[in-house]
Amino acid sequence: VSTAMTMKGTRTEEEQEALALSQAELKKQSMQEVRRSLPIFPYREDLLAAIHEHQILVIEGETGSGKTTQIPQYLLEDGYTQGGMKIGCTQPRRVAAMSVAARVAQEMSVKLGNEVGYSIRFEDCTSERTVLKYMTDGMLLREFLTEPDLASYSVIIIDEAHERTLHTDILFGLIKDIARFRSDLKVLVASATLDTERFSCFFDDAPVFRIPGRRFPVDIFYTKAPEADYLEACVVSVLQIHVTQSPGDILVFLTGQVVVATNIAETSLTIDGIIYVIDPGFCKQKSYNARTGMESLIVTPCSRASANQRAGRAGRVAAGKCFRLYTAWAFKHEMEESTVPEIQRTNLGNVVLLLKSLGINDLIHFDFMDPPPHETLVLALEQLYALGALNHLGELTKLGRRMAELPVDPMLSKMILASEQYKCSEEVLTIAAMLSVNNSIFYRPKDKVVHADNARMNFVVPGGDHLVLLNVYTQWLESGYSTQWCYENFIQFRSMRRARDVRDQLEGLMDRIEVEVVSSQGDSLPIRKAVTAGYFYHTARLSKGGYKTVKHQQTVYVHPNSSLFEEQPRWLIYHELVFTTKEFMRQVIEIDSGWLLEVAPHYYKSKELEDSSSKKMPRKQGKTKEELG
Ligand code: ADP
Ligand code: MG
Repeated sequence: VSTAMTMKGTRTEEEQEALALSQAELKKQSMQEVRRSLPIFPYREDLLAAIHEHQILVIEGETGSGKTTQIPQYLLEDGYTQGGMKIGCTQPRRVAAMSVAARVAQEMSVKLGNEVGYSIRFEDCTSERTVLKYMTDGMLLREFLTEPDLASYSVIIIDEAHERTLHTDILFGLIKDIARFRSDLKVLVASATLDTERFSCFFDDAPVFRIPGRRFPVDIFYTKAPEADYLEACVVSVLQIHVTQSPGDILVFLTGQVVVATNIAETSLTIDGIIYVIDPGFCKQKSYNARTGMESLIVTPCSRASANQRAGRAGRVAAGKCFRLYTAWAFKHEMEESTVPEIQRTNLGNVVLLLKSLGINDLIHFDFMDPPPHETLVLALEQLYALGALNHLGELTKLGRRMAELPVDPMLSKMILASEQYKCSEEVLTIAAMLSVNNSIFYRPKDKVVHADNARMNFVVPGGDHLVLLNVYTQWLESGYSTQWCYENFIQFRSMRRARDVRDQLEGLMDRIEVEVVSSQGDSLPIRKAVTAGYFYHTARLSKGGYKTVKHQQTVYVHPNSSLFEEQPRWLIYHELVFTTKEFMRQVIEIDSGWLLEVAPHYYKSKELEDSSSKKMPRKQGKTKEELG
């Protein structure tokens, strides 16, 4: 059995995998031969004619038909980049933007970053010469800040539209708007065979161009009874296929780490040669509680649409089989028809700040394909107000304008800007960078757990995890960014290198928002205050048996990996919450409740911060087996 691909949970590894995959693929056949063999090729002329005729076109085609790699090249060959105009193509995922750009550069025999480039957050691989630009949907959204009419583009392709990511949904509204006064701009909405009627409807009945797929039949099998342990069921299925079925590659869809494939393989990456698909029926999804403002990643049943995309992966090269590790009844009655768009289950702070910066004040009447829940929008406005990014009329403040310049979440942005006042921007930039590669810093191989944990303990400093991360980075810097040092200290070199890249990028932006980069010279107090200024929403107070969030009295716990797990200080700020066995706070820092009044006087009342628990402190908790596991 050869599994189609092995993917670890972190992005960087996915990215590596994808790049390696495309290089191996390259050798197989001559490039032009491959291009002509794609399902889209016979439709080249018709497609170009349709694009010529209509300003907005919805393009539907199965994964692998050639939408992403071929359409931009056809447009280029047809003259759409004359006069230095660009063709932009958005992707919901960083890894897809990178790998597809690399592929197209190869097909065109140009160096990646020259005529063909990509732009993803914290990484710009384009140049003056770039005319085909692949980018994440989030990056195109940010381009509206510098070029509100996208004047340098002749064509915008919103690819993987069916994924309905938050940024793609916002792009729909913005691009529909600018298309009205930029009659020369062509807009292509490319999607797998899902939802195309809805896209057409949203874009004023734009025509749909369908690329017929070459699909072989896929037999679908269900389990007779629900599976108790889907991981085990996966392993058993793989072995059964190996023993009982004819040869062929197997693709398994899992949800997270030690993983065979994530749902990235559903549509945005092409893997040839899959005959068998094993689908446990789950995906990891962001969910958002608009009452408490809490975001969490939870494993949930996937939708029927998603399950059908997965099954489709088995029928690309020959007749295939899909083994669904759930019952036919569950498929019919328990799964949702389609995945709820991200805009309806996420924090909107970032997007609202961006839209406000674009001068879009009336968000209630923004042209959403599916509007977000009213309370989510209101909460985002409230949070931005509390952070000082909006005034009481909901207008962008000077601080808000500076916050929007940084390509990070509003709280992180505020933390960085607050570091100016507390004179610790040097350290806070490092912490921001380290937080952005979060959870992949420490390396803990199974056979060296004790060594790894000891190494980790050596980095502990008082005050909390943010300061531990700072300490790791500082020591790495002092080692001369050494690989050997990382190896000896059980630190992931790749994550550190990425943190350094992110840090460089952020530091480069400090000039623009006029923040001087200065160090607090070893004093951690200002650093903790700057963190508080950004994350005061995330305050938790020690109470019986755990912590309670201050505003919503929700019970939360310090993550067992935290440097403050044993200490359990009275007041904490957490960077994020993750739900595994319970609601865990990941990356916590100890604060003084008095600071909350200093940094967020319009949000906290001193009465809320009175410490009633000081007399009867709960005894310290040790780690339970479950938590350590
Ligand atoms: P679509 O966007 O319609 O899913 P693509 O344009 O991504 O289709 O892919 C068309 C074909 O190009 C695939 O079948 C595959 O053979 C090849 N291809 C696409 N991306 C890559 C890549 N990164 N590496 C190697 N081959 C690729
Ligand atoms: Mg594609």
